[in-house]
Amino acid sequence: GYNVQLEQAAEFLRSNDDFLVVSHIQPDGDAAGSTFAVAWMLHSMGKRFTLINEGRMPDKFMYMAGPFSITNYETNPLERAFERIVSVDCADFERIGKVHGVFAEGYQLLNIDHHATNDGFGHVNLVREDAAATVEVLYDLTRTLGLPFSSELSSCIYSGLLTDTGGFRYSNTSPKVLTIAAELLGYGVPGYELAERLLETMTYAQVSLLKESLKTLSFAHDKKLAWLSVTLDDLRTTEASSEDMAGLVNYARNVEGVEVGVLFKEKQPGVIKVSMRSAGAVDVARLAQSFGGGGHIRAAGCTLTGSMEEAVERIVKEVGLALA
Ligand code: 5GP
Ligand code: MN
Ligand code: MN
Repeated sequence: GYNVQLEQAAEFLRSNDDFLVVSHIQPDGDAAGSTFAVAWMLHSMGKRFTLINEGRMPDKFMYMAGPFSITNYETNPLERAFERIVSVDCADFERIGKVHGVFAEGYQLLNIDHHATNDGFGHVNLVREDAAATVEVLYDLTRTLGLPFSSELSSCIYSGLLTDTGGFRYSNTSPKVLTIAAELLGYGVPGYELAERLLETMTYAQVSLLKESLKTLSFAHDKKLAWLSVTLDDLRTTEASSEDMAGLVNYARNVEGVEVGVLFKEKQPGVIKVSMRSAGAVDVARLAQSFGGGGHIRAAGCTLTGSMEEAVERIVKEVGLALA
């Protein structure tokens, strides 16, 4: 059960040292919040650790880092190997990306996550599917370890809750989420400031990209499916980066009557990343999994090879079958 997992995870952290902490590629607020939350936890345990991601941690999450730095593996592929790994918010090994290049032979990995599609790839697995965010699991682990909720750790946990629940609005906003959030506000978390920073503020590049992508908004299946697409050319002309696409999929999903909203993102010529959001009738995690991806019932993703047109065609067809 979950309590046994909590004890095993706590023991993994207590009995080891010199950890490598990694989240999924292209970190969102929960991935970032979880990475930095683990850092603050290990810091208060007096442990040594290295934070890393396959790519660059977006600047907008760096307020959580305090004195800690995070290595961008692509630009700085560390010249050493790590024996003890903590992965956060990763449903499977592939989500770690190229960072596995610094895992030592015989490494031990603690997998902390909340995805229903998590395949238990860790040597120790701490996975609670009904948690709204990985940071909610880290809240439980902080309690198990008896660590103090500093304002810094609390802000990391709050940030992950805020982003993975869409500002405490999505269906994963449980009584427990709001209870934890209320408790964290009591520890000095600047809730309003974090909401403004993480949910309200748009960069100029983001709003330019929104403007371009809305021109592509299309519908199928009695307007129960809506989608948007972003090409590499759109990113160039708007000077936007891939992190500026976060939230775009909601413009498709939020249209009245839409059951499934999809965003197609051209990653490289011939490689299309698909983000799916469901209003509830369709399990998009299953859909994404059938294309080699994963996620949650209402939010999932996968990567397709082929042209943008081919990707759209395949997803429109599959969503049609799922709606039938
Ligand atoms: P997003 O659409 O925001 O990238 O992802 C939505 C959800 O699906 C997130 O929980 C994310 O972790 C998961 N997800 C997105 N893409 C993939 C993928 O390629 N593989 C897996 N396993 N999960 C994914
Ligand atoms: Mn995530
Ligand atoms: Mn998450």
